[in-house]
Amino acid sequence: MAENLVIETTSLTKRYGKIVAVDGLSMEVPRGHVFGLLGPNGSGKTTTMSMLLGLVRPTAGSFSLFGAPTHHENTLHRVGAIIETPAFYPYLSGRQNLAYFQGILGGGTPGELDKLLEQVGLADRGNDRFHTYSLGMKQRLGLAYALLGDPELLFLDEPTNGMDPAGMAEVRELIRSLGTDERTVLLSSHLLHEVEEVCDSVAILSKGKLIAQGKVDDLVRQSQEQIRVRTTDDDAAVGIISALDWVEAVTTEAGGLMVAAPTARSGELTAALSESAIYVTEMTPVQASLEEYFLDVTGEDEGDSA
Ligand code: ATP
Repeated sequence: MAENLVIETTSLTKRYGKIVAVDGLSMEVPRGHVFGLLGPNGSGKTTTMSMLLGLVRPTAGSFSLFGAPTHHENTLHRVGAIIETPAFYPYLSGRQNLAYFQGILGGGTPGELDKLLEQVGLADRGNDRFHTYSLGMKQRLGLAYALLGDPELLFLDEPTNGMDPAGMAEVRELIRSLGTDERTVLLSSHLLHEVEEVCDSVAILSKGKLIAQGKVDDLVRQSQEQIRVRTTDDDAAVGIISALDWVEAVTTEAGGLMVAAPTARSGELTAALSESAIYVTEMTPVQASLEEYFLDVTGEDEGDSA
Protein backbone atom coordinates (compact mmCIF):
# COMPACT_ATOMS: atom_id res chain seq x y z
CA MET A 1 0.00 0.00 0.00
CA ALA A 2 1.26 3.44 -0.85
CA GLU A 3 2.67 5.41 2.11
CA ASN A 4 0.36 8.34 1.72
CA LEU A 5 -2.92 6.38 1.75
CA VAL A 6 -4.84 6.54 4.99
CA ILE A 7 -7.70 4.35 3.80
CA GLU A 8 -7.63 1.76 1.06
CA THR A 9 -10.58 -0.51 0.29
CA THR A 10 -10.54 -3.44 -2.09
CA SER A 11 -13.82 -4.75 -3.49
CA LEU A 12 -15.47 -3.89 -0.18
CA THR A 13 -19.01 -5.26 -0.15
CA LYS A 14 -21.92 -5.35 2.29
CA ARG A 15 -25.15 -7.20 1.62
CA TYR A 16 -28.26 -7.10 3.75
CA GLY A 17 -30.25 -10.01 2.38
CA LYS A 18 -31.01 -9.03 -1.18
CA ILE A 19 -29.91 -5.42 -0.72
CA VAL A 20 -26.35 -4.71 -1.76
CA ALA A 21 -25.62 -1.64 0.36
CA VAL A 22 -21.96 -1.42 -0.77
CA ASP A 23 -20.99 -3.14 -3.98
CA GLY A 24 -17.33 -3.96 -4.67
CA LEU A 25 -15.99 -0.60 -3.51
CA SER A 26 -12.30 0.01 -4.23
CA MET A 27 -11.36 3.43 -2.95
CA GLU A 28 -8.16 5.22 -1.99
CA VAL A 29 -8.11 8.07 0.49
CA PRO A 30 -4.84 10.00 0.58
CA ARG A 31 -3.39 11.42 3.79
CA GLY A 32 -4.31 14.98 4.74
CA HIS A 33 -7.11 17.19 3.45
CA VAL A 34 -10.83 16.53 3.40
CA PHE A 35 -12.11 13.58 1.37
CA GLY A 36 -15.79 13.46 0.40
CA LEU A 37 -17.98 10.41 0.10
CA LEU A 38 -20.71 11.78 -2.11
CA GLY A 39 -23.92 10.06 -3.05
CA PRO A 40 -27.69 10.29 -2.84
CA ASN A 41 -29.57 8.85 0.15
CA GLY A 42 -29.19 5.08 0.31
CA SER A 43 -26.05 4.97 -1.83
CA GLY A 44 -24.03 3.24 0.90
CA LYS A 45 -22.07 6.05 2.55
CA THR A 46 -22.97 5.25 6.16
CA THR A 47 -22.47 1.53 5.58
CA THR A 48 -19.02 2.21 4.14
CA MET A 49 -18.02 4.32 7.13
CA SER A 50 -19.47 1.78 9.55
CA MET A 51 -17.39 -0.99 7.99
CA LEU A 52 -14.24 1.13 8.17
CA LEU A 53 -14.95 1.80 11.83
CA GLY A 54 -15.46 -1.89 12.58
CA LEU A 55 -19.15 -1.37 13.48
CA VAL A 56 -20.42 -3.45 10.56
CA ARG A 57 -18.76 -6.58 9.23
CA PRO A 58 -18.10 -6.62 5.47
CA THR A 59 -19.70 -9.44 3.47
CA ALA A 60 -16.71 -9.51 1.13
CA GLY A 61 -13.61 -7.54 0.24
CA SER A 62 -11.09 -5.91 2.52
CA PHE A 63 -9.74 -2.59 3.68
CA SER A 64 -6.78 -1.11 5.43
CA LEU A 65 -6.44 1.90 7.69
CA PHE A 66 -2.99 3.48 7.99
CA GLY A 67 -1.65 0.52 6.04
CA ALA A 68 -2.88 -2.08 8.56
CA PRO A 69 -4.87 -4.74 6.70
CA THR A 70 -7.53 -5.33 9.32
CA HIS A 71 -9.23 -3.25 11.87
CA HIS A 72 -7.55 -3.51 15.26
CA GLU A 73 -6.93 -1.70 18.49
CA ASN A 74 -3.75 -0.07 17.28
CA THR A 75 -5.62 1.91 14.66
CA LEU A 76 -8.76 2.72 16.64
CA HIS A 77 -7.17 5.32 18.91
CA ARG A 78 -6.00 7.15 15.80
CA VAL A 79 -9.58 7.57 14.60
CA GLY A 80 -12.41 9.91 15.66
CA ALA A 81 -15.95 9.72 14.34
CA ILE A 82 -19.44 11.11 14.34
CA ILE A 83 -21.72 8.57 12.71
CA GLU A 84 -24.69 9.42 14.87
CA THR A 85 -24.84 12.49 17.06
CA PRO A 86 -23.14 11.54 20.34
CA ALA A 87 -25.53 11.12 23.26
CA PHE A 88 -24.63 14.22 25.26
CA TYR A 89 -26.21 14.84 28.66
CA PRO A 90 -28.62 17.78 28.34
CA TYR A 91 -28.11 19.13 31.86
CA LEU A 92 -24.34 18.97 31.82
CA SER A 93 -22.35 21.76 30.21
CA GLY A 94 -20.53 21.27 26.92
CA ARG A 95 -17.27 21.08 28.83
CA GLN A 96 -18.61 18.54 31.36
CA ASN A 97 -19.90 16.39 28.53
CA LEU A 98 -16.50 16.43 26.84
CA ALA A 99 -14.78 15.69 30.16
CA TYR A 100 -17.08 12.69 30.61
CA PHE A 101 -16.15 11.23 27.20
CA GLN A 102 -12.51 12.12 27.76
CA GLY A 103 -12.66 9.98 30.89
CA ILE A 104 -14.21 7.07 28.99
CA LEU A 105 -11.49 7.30 26.38
CA GLY A 106 -9.01 7.21 29.24
CA GLY A 107 -6.76 10.21 29.25
CA GLY A 108 -6.50 13.83 28.28
CA THR A 109 -6.19 17.02 30.28
CA PRO A 110 -8.42 20.00 31.10
CA GLY A 111 -6.07 21.92 28.79
CA GLU A 112 -7.14 19.66 25.93
CA LEU A 113 -10.77 20.61 26.57
CA ASP A 114 -9.94 24.33 26.53
CA LYS A 115 -8.14 23.89 23.25
CA LEU A 116 -10.98 21.90 21.67
CA LEU A 117 -13.70 24.28 22.84
CA GLU A 118 -11.66 27.13 21.40
CA GLN A 119 -11.10 25.24 18.14
CA VAL A 120 -14.81 24.60 17.58
CA GLY A 121 -15.79 28.13 18.58
CA LEU A 122 -17.43 27.23 21.90
CA ALA A 123 -14.89 28.80 24.27
CA ASP A 124 -17.49 31.31 25.52
CA ARG A 125 -20.32 28.80 25.86
CA GLY A 126 -18.42 25.78 27.17
CA ASN A 127 -19.86 26.17 30.67
CA ASP A 128 -23.47 26.49 29.49
CA ARG A 129 -25.73 23.47 29.62
CA PHE A 130 -25.94 21.39 26.48
CA HIS A 131 -29.73 21.77 26.15
CA THR A 132 -29.32 25.53 25.73
CA TYR A 133 -27.18 25.05 22.60
CA SER A 134 -28.37 25.71 19.06
CA LEU A 135 -28.18 22.82 16.60
CA GLY A 136 -25.01 24.30 15.12
CA MET A 137 -23.42 24.49 18.57
CA LYS A 138 -24.46 20.91 19.31
CA GLN A 139 -22.88 19.79 16.09
CA ARG A 140 -19.70 21.72 16.88
CA LEU A 141 -19.56 20.07 20.30
CA GLY A 142 -19.90 16.78 18.43
CA LEU A 143 -16.83 17.73 16.41
CA ALA A 144 -14.94 18.54 19.61
CA TYR A 145 -15.94 15.09 20.89
CA ALA A 146 -14.66 13.46 17.68
CA LEU A 147 -11.40 15.39 18.07
CA LEU A 148 -10.71 14.09 21.60
CA GLY A 149 -7.31 12.42 21.64
CA ASP A 150 -6.25 14.36 18.52
CA PRO A 151 -7.07 11.61 15.98
CA GLU A 152 -5.30 11.43 12.62
CA LEU A 153 -8.45 10.36 10.83
CA LEU A 154 -11.93 11.77 11.33
CA PHE A 155 -15.14 10.19 10.00
CA LEU A 156 -18.00 12.65 9.72
CA ASP A 157 -21.30 11.25 8.45
CA GLU A 158 -23.52 14.02 7.03
CA PRO A 159 -22.26 16.54 9.60
CA THR A 160 -24.52 19.39 8.51
CA ASN A 161 -27.74 17.40 8.21
CA GLY A 162 -30.75 19.25 9.53
CA MET A 163 -28.89 22.50 10.14
CA ASP A 164 -29.87 25.99 9.08
CA PRO A 165 -27.70 27.73 6.46
CA ALA A 166 -25.77 29.81 9.01
CA GLY A 167 -24.96 26.75 11.11
CA MET A 168 -23.96 24.81 7.99
CA ALA A 169 -21.56 27.53 6.91
CA GLU A 170 -19.91 27.58 10.36
CA VAL A 171 -19.52 23.83 10.51
CA ARG A 172 -18.19 23.60 6.93
CA GLU A 173 -15.58 26.22 7.62
CA LEU A 174 -14.55 24.36 10.72
CA ILE A 175 -14.31 21.03 8.87
CA ARG A 176 -12.12 22.62 6.19
CA SER A 177 -9.75 23.81 8.88
CA LEU A 178 -9.55 20.28 10.34
CA GLY A 179 -8.23 18.64 7.18
CA THR A 180 -4.52 19.34 7.42
CA ASP A 181 -1.41 17.47 6.35
CA GLU A 182 -1.46 15.61 9.65
CA ARG A 183 -5.15 14.90 9.74
CA THR A 184 -7.49 13.37 7.18
CA VAL A 185 -11.23 13.98 7.26
CA LEU A 186 -13.62 11.57 5.54
CA LEU A 187 -16.89 13.42 5.13
CA SER A 188 -20.07 11.90 3.75
CA SER A 189 -22.63 14.10 2.10
CA HIS A 190 -25.50 13.96 -0.35
CA LEU A 191 -24.99 17.66 -1.10
CA LEU A 192 -22.82 18.38 -4.10
CA HIS A 193 -22.20 21.98 -3.27
CA GLU A 194 -21.07 20.97 0.23
CA VAL A 195 -18.48 18.62 -1.23
CA GLU A 196 -17.35 21.25 -3.75
CA GLU A 197 -16.97 23.74 -0.93
CA VAL A 198 -15.29 21.57 1.68
CA CYS A 199 -13.51 18.63 0.04
CA ASP A 200 -10.24 18.34 -1.84
CA SER A 201 -10.99 14.87 -3.21
CA VAL A 202 -14.16 12.86 -3.61
CA ALA A 203 -15.50 9.38 -4.28
CA ILE A 204 -18.94 9.39 -5.88
CA LEU A 205 -21.26 6.51 -4.94
CA SER A 206 -24.46 5.45 -6.60
CA LYS A 207 -26.43 2.41 -5.43
CA GLY A 208 -23.41 1.15 -3.49
CA LYS A 209 -21.04 1.36 -6.44
CA LEU A 210 -18.13 3.72 -6.97
CA ILE A 211 -18.87 5.87 -10.00
CA ALA A 212 -15.84 8.14 -9.96
CA GLN A 213 -13.08 9.28 -7.64
CA GLY A 214 -10.42 11.92 -7.78
CA LYS A 215 -9.60 15.50 -6.93
CA VAL A 216 -12.69 17.70 -6.90
CA ASP A 217 -10.89 20.22 -9.13
CA ASP A 218 -10.01 17.53 -11.67
CA LEU A 219 -13.53 16.11 -11.77
CA VAL A 220 -14.95 19.58 -12.18
CA ARG A 221 -12.40 20.31 -14.91
CA GLN A 222 -13.21 17.08 -16.72
CA SER A 223 -16.86 17.95 -16.65
CA GLN A 224 -16.46 21.58 -17.58
CA GLU A 225 -14.23 21.31 -20.61
CA GLN A 226 -16.69 22.85 -23.02
CA ILE A 227 -16.36 25.76 -25.40
CA ARG A 228 -19.29 27.71 -26.79
CA VAL A 229 -18.49 28.94 -30.32
CA ARG A 230 -20.21 31.09 -32.90
CA THR A 231 -18.79 31.20 -36.38
CA THR A 232 -19.46 32.70 -39.74
CA ASP A 233 -20.83 29.33 -40.89
CA ASP A 234 -21.95 27.03 -38.06
CA ASP A 235 -23.26 24.28 -40.32
CA ALA A 236 -19.92 23.83 -42.05
CA ALA A 237 -18.04 24.32 -38.78
CA VAL A 238 -19.71 21.25 -37.20
CA GLY A 239 -18.02 18.91 -39.70
CA ILE A 240 -14.60 20.49 -39.29
CA ILE A 241 -14.71 20.57 -35.49
CA SER A 242 -16.01 17.03 -35.08
CA ALA A 243 -13.16 15.75 -37.28
CA LEU A 244 -10.58 17.00 -34.72
CA ASP A 245 -9.48 14.00 -32.69
CA TRP A 246 -9.25 15.94 -29.39
CA VAL A 247 -12.87 17.04 -29.61
CA GLU A 248 -15.30 14.74 -27.79
CA ALA A 249 -18.54 16.08 -29.21
CA VAL A 250 -20.14 19.02 -30.97
CA THR A 251 -23.76 19.95 -30.46
CA THR A 252 -25.79 22.69 -32.03
CA GLU A 253 -27.44 25.10 -29.64
CA ALA A 254 -29.58 28.15 -30.08
CA GLY A 255 -27.23 30.69 -31.59
CA GLY A 256 -24.03 28.64 -31.67
CA LEU A 257 -22.17 25.39 -31.14
CA MET A 258 -21.18 23.66 -27.91
CA VAL A 259 -17.86 21.87 -28.23
CA ALA A 260 -16.81 19.31 -25.60
CA ALA A 261 -13.04 19.77 -25.67
CA PRO A 262 -10.21 21.08 -23.46
CA THR A 263 -10.59 24.85 -23.20
CA ALA A 264 -6.80 25.19 -23.52
CA ARG A 265 -7.13 24.15 -27.17
CA SER A 266 -9.42 27.04 -28.16
CA GLY A 267 -6.64 28.53 -30.31
CA GLU A 268 -6.29 25.33 -32.32
CA LEU A 269 -10.04 25.31 -32.82
CA THR A 270 -9.91 28.82 -34.26
CA ALA A 271 -6.97 27.87 -36.50
CA ALA A 272 -8.67 24.73 -37.85
CA LEU A 273 -11.77 26.71 -38.77
CA SER A 274 -9.90 29.59 -40.40
CA GLU A 275 -8.06 27.11 -42.64
CA SER A 276 -11.46 26.45 -44.17
CA ALA A 277 -12.26 30.15 -44.28
CA ILE A 278 -14.71 29.90 -41.38
CA TYR A 279 -14.13 32.57 -38.78
CA VAL A 280 -14.94 32.58 -35.09
CA THR A 281 -17.18 35.46 -34.08
CA GLU A 282 -17.53 34.46 -30.43
CA MET A 283 -15.86 31.92 -28.19
CA THR A 284 -16.56 31.26 -24.48
CA PRO A 285 -15.27 28.53 -22.15
CA VAL A 286 -18.27 27.19 -20.25
CA GLN A 287 -18.08 26.58 -16.51
CA ALA A 288 -19.91 23.49 -15.35
CA SER A 289 -20.21 22.44 -11.74
CA LEU A 290 -19.59 19.13 -10.07
CA GLU A 291 -23.36 18.94 -9.87
CA GLU A 292 -23.64 18.59 -13.63
CA TYR A 293 -20.92 15.98 -13.56
CA PHE A 294 -22.66 14.14 -10.72
CA LEU A 295 -26.00 14.15 -12.50
CA ASP A 296 -24.24 13.00 -15.62
CA VAL A 297 -22.52 10.02 -13.98
CA THR A 298 -25.26 8.93 -11.59
CA GLY A 299 -28.32 10.06 -13.48
CA GLU A 300 -29.71 10.99 -10.09
CA ASP A 301 -30.89 14.16 -8.52
CA GLU A 302 -29.39 15.84 -5.51
CA GLY A 303 -32.31 14.92 -3.28
CA ASP A 304 -33.06 18.04 -1.32
CA SER A 305 -31.91 21.57 -1.72
CA ALA A 306 -30.46 22.08 1.76
P1 ATP B 1 -28.39 7.90 3.96
O1 ATP B 1 -27.71 9.20 3.74
O2 ATP B 1 -29.84 7.92 3.62
O3 ATP B 1 -28.08 7.26 5.30
P2 ATP B 1 -26.38 6.23 2.79
O4 ATP B 1 -25.73 6.61 1.50
O5 ATP B 1 -25.61 6.48 4.03
O6 ATP B 1 -27.78 6.92 2.85
P3 ATP B 1 -26.70 3.58 3.74
O7 ATP B 1 -27.35 4.05 5.01
O8 ATP B 1 -25.33 3.05 3.82
O9 ATP B 1 -26.75 4.71 2.65
O10 ATP B 1 -27.66 2.49 3.09
C1 ATP B 1 -27.41 1.81 1.89
C2 ATP B 1 -28.50 0.77 1.64
O11 ATP B 1 -28.41 -0.27 2.60
C3 ATP B 1 -29.91 1.32 1.77
O12 ATP B 1 -30.70 0.69 0.80
C4 ATP B 1 -30.32 0.92 3.16
O13 ATP B 1 -31.72 0.76 3.24
C5 ATP B 1 -29.62 -0.41 3.31
N1 ATP B 1 -29.28 -0.69 4.72
C6 ATP B 1 -28.42 0.00 5.51
N2 ATP B 1 -28.33 -0.54 6.74
C7 ATP B 1 -29.15 -1.62 6.73
C8 ATP B 1 -29.50 -2.62 7.71
N3 ATP B 1 -28.98 -2.60 8.94
N4 ATP B 1 -30.38 -3.57 7.32
C9 ATP B 1 -30.89 -3.60 6.09
N5 ATP B 1 -30.62 -2.71 5.12
C10 ATP B 1 -29.75 -1.73 5.43
